[in-house]
Amino acid sequence: MTPLRLLILAILFYIGWRMLRRSLSNNSQQSVPPEPPPEEDPQDVLVEDPVCHVLIPKHQALRLRQDGKTYYFCSERCCDQFAEQSQQGEQ
Ligand SMILES: [Zn+2]
Repeated sequence: MTPLRLLILAILFYIGWRMLRRSLSNNSQQSVPPEPPPEEDPQDVLVEDPVCHVLIPKHQALRLRQDGKTYYFCSERCCDQFAEQSQQGEQ
């Protein structure tokens, strides 16, 4: 193989590589970028009271952490009742 042929081959290779890159970049422009999942506003999340099974907005609910879980209550009364029930269950 002569040096001239080698040069032509290198140029062809370079052109081919550039075309490939251009087509790849075109493809990426045509594809719609994935939309980020809509972030839930934590204030709009409804949580269920395990005692009276009422749905309460999370920011209004009373929280009780127990056994690594967080429970949400509509009122202190439900919270106390739940705590009593779980204590009775342990005994
Ligand atoms: Zn309740």
